[in-house]
Amino acid sequence: MSRHLRWSVALGAAALLPLGVLAPVATATSAAPSAARTHAQHELVEVPARAALRDAVDPSECTTTLLDDYIDGLLAEMTDEQFAFLVAHQDVLLAMPTYEALFFGSPDDPDFALDSHARQLTNTYRDLQRFWDIESDDIQLMAMHPDGLLDADRIAATLTLMVQTGELDPMTPAEITEEAETVAAFMQAQGDFYLNPLWTLNAYAFSGEGESDPVIAALPDKLVFGDGILEAYDAIGLGDVGPRVIMAHEFAHHVQYELGTFDSGPSDPAEATRRTELMADAMASYYATHKKGLALNRKRVADALLSFYTVGDCQFASPGHHGTPLQRERAADWGADLAAAARPRSMVLPAETVVELFDAALPGIVSGS
Ligand SMILES: [Zn+2]
Repeated sequence: MSRHLRWSVALGAAALLPLGVLAPVATATSAAPSAARTHAQHELVEVPARAALRDAVDPSECTTTLLDDYIDGLLAEMTDEQFAFLVAHQDVLLAMPTYEALFFGSPDDPDFALDSHARQLTNTYRDLQRFWDIESDDIQLMAMHPDGLLDADRIAATLTLMVQTGELDPMTPAEITEEAETVAAFMQAQGDFYLNPLWTLNAYAFSGEGESDPVIAALPDKLVFGDGILEAYDAIGLGDVGPRVIMAHEFAHHVQYELGTFDSGPSDPAEATRRTELMADAMASYYATHKKGLALNRKRVADALLSFYTVGDCQFASPGHHGTPLQRERAADWGADLAAAARPRSMVLPAETVVELFDAALPGIVSGS
C-alpha cells in the first residue's frame, strides 16, 4: 500500500528490495516537512522515521547522528520478512500511531496516557507553562503507544481520517479495511514486533489554528511523545536530558503559534522553516540552561537538541530543513548565552522579546560570522 503515500514516491523502486540493501552506513537526510503545521507543505506532522527509512534505502553523504545510528540498528535487527513488510506498509507502520494520537488522542484516555518518563515529562511541561508568558493551559500533553497497530478497527479509523484530510492519497473504504486487517494480522503474528520503537519514534507539537480543513481546525493543541523516542534516548544515554530538551523545543513551537511567529518570517518555505526551527532550538536552550528553567549543562542540552531532527541537514532547499548541525549548535549557544546573561540570574525575558532578539541574531547564527 506504499503507493498510497505521497512521500513514499521518494523511495522509488529501490525500496522494494529486501533487507540485503540495508547498509549499516546509512546516514541522515530528509525531505520531511516540518512539525510546524503552519508552514508544512504536505504533512500535518513530521515523522522522522520516514526519513530514516528512506535514507537507509538510499544513503546520502551527510554525517550521521546518535539517533540515526540507533534507527539503523532497529532496521538491521529486523528479519527480511519484517523489513519487506515495513517497506510495503510503511504508511501504516510509521505514521499510524502519530496520526492516531493527533486525531483521536486525549489526555484522559488510558490508551494515550504517559507511561515511560511520565513524571519527568509532566513536570517539565508544567515548568514550561510557568516559564513562558503565553497562554498554554489548552495544550494537551499525551503519549503515543504502538498498541493500535494490533487493532484493525483503530488502524482503519486513523487511515480513514488520513485519507479524508489528504495526508494519504485516496483509498476506498474496502481498501482501508483490507490494509488495516493485513497490518493487524501481521503484527499479531510477529510477537513483540509491534513494540519496535520505530513505530512511535516521534515527538511533536501540533496546533490546528488557521487550518481550513474543519476536521484539522477542530483538533486541540497537542504535545505528543512516542514511547519509541523515549526508548531511543534511554538507549543512547540521553534519557535524562533528551526528553526534557525535546519537549522544550516542541513547546517553543507552541510559543511561536501563540505569538504568530510563523506568520512574520521569510516567504521562502525553506528559509521560514530554518528560522522557526533554529529559534525553537534557541528557546529550548534558553529554557533548559536558565536558572529558572532546567539549569542544565549547555553542552548536554546542545547534544540532545542536535540528536533529534538533524535529519534534513543536507537538503537546504527542503521545506523541512531544520538548519545545519553548525547552525543549530550556534542557535543553542545563543540561547544558553542569553540565559547566562540574565541579571538578576532568575530574570526570564518575555517570549516576545526572545523572539525579537533571536531575529536580530539570526543572520549571524546562519552565517557563523
Ligand atoms: Zn521543530
